[in-house]
Amino acid sequence: MIPSIPVPWQAKAWQTELSRAITDVEDLANILGLSLDDMDWDPNPTFPMRVPMPYVSRMRCGDRSDPLLRQVLPELAEKNSPLGFESDPLQETSATLFPGLVQKYRGRVLIIAAENCAVNCRYCFRRNFPYAYHRHDSTFPMLEHIRDDPSIHEVILSGGDPLIMPDARLNNLVESIEQIPHVKRLRIHTRLPVVIPQRISEPLIEMLVNTRLRTLIVAHFNHANEIDDHVAVAFTVLRQAGIPLLNQSVLLAGVNDNVESLCSLSEALFEVGILPYYLHLPDRVTGTSHFHVDIDTALRLHGSIQGKLPGYLVPKLVQEVPGRPAKELIASASLPPTSPRINARG
Ligand code: SF4
Repeated sequence: MIPSIPVPWQAKAWQTELSRAITDVEDLANILGLSLDDMDWDPNPTFPMRVPMPYVSRMRCGDRSDPLLRQVLPELAEKNSPLGFESDPLQETSATLFPGLVQKYRGRVLIIAAENCAVNCRYCFRRNFPYAYHRHDSTFPMLEHIRDDPSIHEVILSGGDPLIMPDARLNNLVESIEQIPHVKRLRIHTRLPVVIPQRISEPLIEMLVNTRLRTLIVAHFNHANEIDDHVAVAFTVLRQAGIPLLNQSVLLAGVNDNVESLCSLSEALFEVGILPYYLHLPDRVTGTSHFHVDIDTALRLHGSIQGKLPGYLVPKLVQEVPGRPAKELIASASLPPTSPRINARG
């Protein structure tokens, strides 16, 4: 199905936004009317700041505690290194089959399709990821691996952000995957249309609907303020094209760790046709301890939102535990919160 409403921007508008992303904290402070002296910022972050203007435009001017600003501002707190925080807490290195291809769970594989993102989220679980190792000149070895394993029914495009690839490259990759008969589904994990909704263009949608693969998009929103009119248009167009839309968020201290924010997020997502799917406990990644929410708080919050939202708007509270056959379900909408079976990192 092709969308019935056109997107109100040019197909390449997203690349312009990408190229003028803000990378300087002083520039960001000026735009937001903030004083650098009031910001506990790190002038030499190991993970650079990067944030596109369409996202900045949704931040509240003059508000040092803005939940969107907190997600992108390198803070001095990133230098803290409490015990238990590590560079690869999900042990993705051991789940790597070879450069560019990761398999954590049976039946699906994850392609590291790109090593960059439009935005550098401070809490990112891949902020220390060895992208250089995963760089590949050819997708041939990974496609051969998928072809040789008939148990693989789903390919996940991840990164980095896979939608940072130009349409032609993305199209080539999708065409190669669809030639593998036992692959049925293509899942795209992306935050790019959240920060630059102009990424949703007609050529992209045509590609997604014309493949024989059943395509779904898993977006990454953490706060209702991330949804403005342009974002609403982008996701409405995707929905009208018949593409299933899910969201995964991360529970982040100072961003969405309260009942009102979580409820507003679920309501706002549904308004634009996205189902809240996962609420992740933050991973214990080096440099992110200031975002940490403990498991008891997470359970309490999740229990509270169950009392305020219909079940289909309550995301599953999950935690990724290396070596498990699936994500660890801590609480779902249909079950009362219980003590987790495992709390290795919680
Ligand atoms: S978009 Fe995703 S992969 Fe990229 S920095 Fe943000 S959380 Fe990490």
